[in-house]
Amino acid sequence: MQRVLKVLFTTAVTLVFGFSAWCQYPGWQQKADYTMDINVDVEKHQYTGSMSIMYTNNSPDDLDKIFMHTFFNAFQPGSMMDVRSRNIEDPDRRVGSRIVELPADEWGWIKPGAMSMNGMPCQIEEDGTILIATLPAPLRSGVTCKLSLNWTAQVPRQIRRSGWMNKEGVEFSMTQWFPKICEYDHHGWHSNPYIGREFHGVWGDFDVTINLPVGYEVGGTGMLKSSRQEAKKTGKWHFIAENVIDFAWAADQDFKVHTEMVDGIEMNFIYQPNKEYNKSWKELPRFASSAMRFFNEFVGQYPYPQYTVIQGGDGGMEYPMITLVTANRKLPSLVGVTVHEMAHSWFQALVATNESLYEWMDEGFTSWIESECMEILPSFSTEGENVEPMQGGKHSWAYKSYLGQAKSGNEEPLITHADHYTTNRAYGVAAYSKGEVLMNQLGAILGDSLRNEGMRKYFSDWSFKHPGPNDFKRSMERTSDLELDWYFQYFMNTTHTIDYAVKEVKSEVMTTTITLERIGAMPMPQDLLVEFEDGDYIQYHIPLVIMRGNRPLEGNEKLAEDWPWTNPTYDITVPSMGKKIAKVVLDPDLKQADINLENNIYTR
Ligand SMILES: [Zn+2]
Repeated sequence: MQRVLKVLFTTAVTLVFGFSAWCQYPGWQQKADYTMDINVDVEKHQYTGSMSIMYTNNSPDDLDKIFMHTFFNAFQPGSMMDVRSRNIEDPDRRVGSRIVELPADEWGWIKPGAMSMNGMPCQIEEDGTILIATLPAPLRSGVTCKLSLNWTAQVPRQIRRSGWMNKEGVEFSMTQWFPKICEYDHHGWHSNPYIGREFHGVWGDFDVTINLPVGYEVGGTGMLKSSRQEAKKTGKWHFIAENVIDFAWAADQDFKVHTEMVDGIEMNFIYQPNKEYNKSWKELPRFASSAMRFFNEFVGQYPYPQYTVIQGGDGGMEYPMITLVTANRKLPSLVGVTVHEMAHSWFQALVATNESLYEWMDEGFTSWIESECMEILPSFSTEGENVEPMQGGKHSWAYKSYLGQAKSGNEEPLITHADHYTTNRAYGVAAYSKGEVLMNQLGAILGDSLRNEGMRKYFSDWSFKHPGPNDFKRSMERTSDLELDWYFQYFMNTTHTIDYAVKEVKSEVMTTTITLERIGAMPMPQDLLVEFEDGDYIQYHIPLVIMRGNRPLEGNEKLAEDWPWTNPTYDITVPSMGKKIAKVVLDPDLKQADINLENNIYTR
């Protein structure tokens, strides 16, 4: 989703789910193939649904219950999402107290009818946004069953992501809209009550038929079985999507559709006519196709046959093969949100980490490739412009945001469960900004080129597998042949910060001894630039002992002795050969999120 950060600060009390933070992919995962038939009453904003799910239990455990998400139930006064939104000190302005103020005919709800497993009735219990089905007999390990369920639903007035009539007048934004099986993985069940934040889901094939009155235009996850014209004429919208973790759609009678092929992928742009903003939408495909090509090369090939950017929702939100974005924006904002949501395809949709546990592996990595991509887009690049070097370079916004939060004392560690950060701001900074910094800062340890290669390896090794942080760490270690456990332990599990300083410069006749100091608790390898008065310079790379190696050296860079993390200071002797030193700079490329840059420089 798009970043929404508010400038509010609080004392942080952290709820940490550290026990699961390092778990890695065990080699199995569940599968759920859905066939759904949906009939929409557009006047009442209600629909009926019937579905069968072929659910395969690939886990080593026998299951006696199935948990399902019924997200729409969050849009009722007194729901956990409503109460949370009214009690958090920096509420999301899109939600605030809007749920408690909804009249009953604008609530959202999902009412299950009969549910069965292989024709035998299940016992159903409703618990807010979770439906618990007790199975008539345990579903054994390795066995596939057929779950059948009918339900009726009321679509809420659009508040967060989903609903009818968003603020731009889109009739239906249909996301998190059907009863969806919770993921069961090596951590166990993930029956998180929906409070409006992150997701986790089961891979599967979707066969979805949506019956609407004639005249609607629809965009959705997957490929249409018929032509768009025929679907519009009959009101029967039949989508097929293979190997996805979710299914979303949006519908409106005024939508216009523009389609183009990019690298063999059908890209659809669907939006309402609007005099003021349609010119942004006419320009958008050019930028979106450049972004698609960039991500295919930078991270790995997008494997699905189509991608849709559709007007809807309340900002920008990613789903497999589709994003819903608000449309009434000037071009830079429309391009920015589209590039961000598209970038999610490589993480939210394809690698699909558990976003509730590892929100930074989705939002952070997405923000990182988004910033990389924006630099290559015509009229967005700052390359060649005469701008002051900024900490974090292309990612300076993320560094600034993370460092501001770290200095405020209200930072909460990255391993905090996404739903449980004490403020929206602490969540936003951790997930988006610190996640982006974590990724970019690997360039200071591995070098940028091996970091980028490591990202490609991670994507190719872990697509369609729900990896965890340890799997990501191993991809980076295998690519670089360096040990990186310390980096993740510090940056993910703690709020320790980086602060290195040039402490002292002592010149003898032929040599100069430079004393460096680690002030912050977090160790990092260091790059050191020594400039002489005659313009000559020497560059050193100083690895940490615990890396068991060093990144490839660049140019004339010299490899210095390893720095043991236990040692607060480090001396390096430079052959100055009688020349005077003009300047000594730590981390001259500004890759590290060092909280105090002033002490990184010594000038004579
Ligand atoms: Zn996002």
